[in-house]
Amino acid sequence: MIYDIAVVGGGIVGLATGRELLRRHPHLKLVNLEKEDVLSKHQTGHNSGVIHSGIYYAPGSLKARLCVEGRKKLWKYCDAKQIEWRPVGKLIVATHESEIPRLESLMQRGVANGINELQMLDEAGIKEREPHCAGIRAIFSPVTGIVDYGAVARAYADDIREGRGEIYTGREVTAIDRANNVTRLRTSAGDFEARGVITCAGLQSDRLAKMTGNKSDPKIVPFRGDYLILKPEKRYLIKGNIYPVPDPAFPFLGVHFTPRMNGDIWLGPNAVLAFAREGYNFATINPRDLFEALSYSGFIKMASKFWRVGCGEMYRDVVRGAYVRALQRYIPELQVEDTLPGPSGVRAQAMNADGSMVDDFVIDAAPGVIHVRNAPSPAATSSLAIGSYVADEVERHFSLGRTPAPVP
Ligand SMILES: Cc1cc2nc3c(=O)[nH]c(=O)nc-3n(C[C@H](O)[C@H](O)[C@H](O)COP(=O)(O)OP(=O)(O)OC[C@H]3O[C@@H](n4cnc5c(N)ncnc54)[C@H](O)[C@@H]3O)c2cc1C
Repeated sequence: MIYDIAVVGGGIVGLATGRELLRRHPHLKLVNLEKEDVLSKHQTGHNSGVIHSGIYYAPGSLKARLCVEGRKKLWKYCDAKQIEWRPVGKLIVATHESEIPRLESLMQRGVANGINELQMLDEAGIKEREPHCAGIRAIFSPVTGIVDYGAVARAYADDIREGRGEIYTGREVTAIDRANNVTRLRTSAGDFEARGVITCAGLQSDRLAKMTGNKSDPKIVPFRGDYLILKPEKRYLIKGNIYPVPDPAFPFLGVHFTPRMNGDIWLGPNAVLAFAREGYNFATINPRDLFEALSYSGFIKMASKFWRVGCGEMYRDVVRGAYVRALQRYIPELQVEDTLPGPSGVRAQAMNADGSMVDDFVIDAAPGVIHVRNAPSPAATSSLAIGSYVADEVERHFSLGRTPAPVP
């Protein structure tokens, strides 16, 4: 059988895309192929679980637009599907005068992105919201929330199955060839044919793009983030999300305090080079992944510029006392003995050959194939809006062969 669309990748972006295509075109024969035995095993299942507001991203960027739109869509979706989420809010805290200009420009950025609910708080305002937090000024976002993205992705998968789409796990796509307008996907468990292919492969996205002859840049460099967990008896220290003022030179938001849907409080994540794209601790090493990262000109350039920061992150990663000292800047009462080792996640960070990090979402579209090449944070928040954006690209670039059903 020849499918109309094959989506590669059973993370939140691939599932949101498949779901949206079937919602718009119920007649489509759609298949989702996932290499692992379960869905959402990588970034979707290993993240902070924050529904971001959209404050951080450059006005006019895809991230700014799709995060704000995606957040609103996600609230409605979770309510409709009875997936619990909580609007716990977020403080972005300046602890030193030197951070105030950056905090103010962040506020302007948020307003430019259409987030009118943001408030600037003074020291007393910070204490009112987070009595244990030290800070001199802070942005309060009441529209930041938390959710379990694994549960959201499972609901998207259910929508696909209800729309008569097919989902196969344990199917690693190893090669893609196209002839006579039909694409053959070779997988670890048999071949599949489709008229159009969309890859949403997260940490492997550059490799999937290369399979269809696209250039390998931007390349994925994996950065692991390790979390600590606050002991249950210390949970009173944190009420909502507490984040630092981000450093514009880095793509990550800095270590933060995040309440989880199960009541835990996670601290982190930091950012260290992962020795395997899907390696969740120091001991997991994939020689191919490590060699590709270390020999990539972009990584070498980035590392020579930021080696001090990188060494600091590595040190804090192995010395828990140093990690906790960085967190004490925001919660001075926090002690090493209040924390437990927590889980880890690996971020797919797209990097250019000149060493610059690719900041925005990157979605490459051509007749017959679309590659989601860069979908880092806040792609989970934005997933429904990304699905809709990719579905627009499919309608523009693919011949779907039949008249689309009206959009409900
Ligand atoms: C530590 C961390 C914290 C984060 N915190 C947040 C947050 O709080 N809020 C937020 O909005 N975002 C957050 N993110 C980002 C968010 O998790 C990701 O942007 C999002 O999950 C990306 O989804 P995805 O489907 O593109 O990738 P993934 O979830 O990684 O899914 C890609 C899938 O493709 C599959 N695949 C790969 N290659 C193949 C192949 N050859 N054949 C078949 N299948 C293949 C993989 O097995 C995987 O299941 C965080 C990410 C990390 C790592």
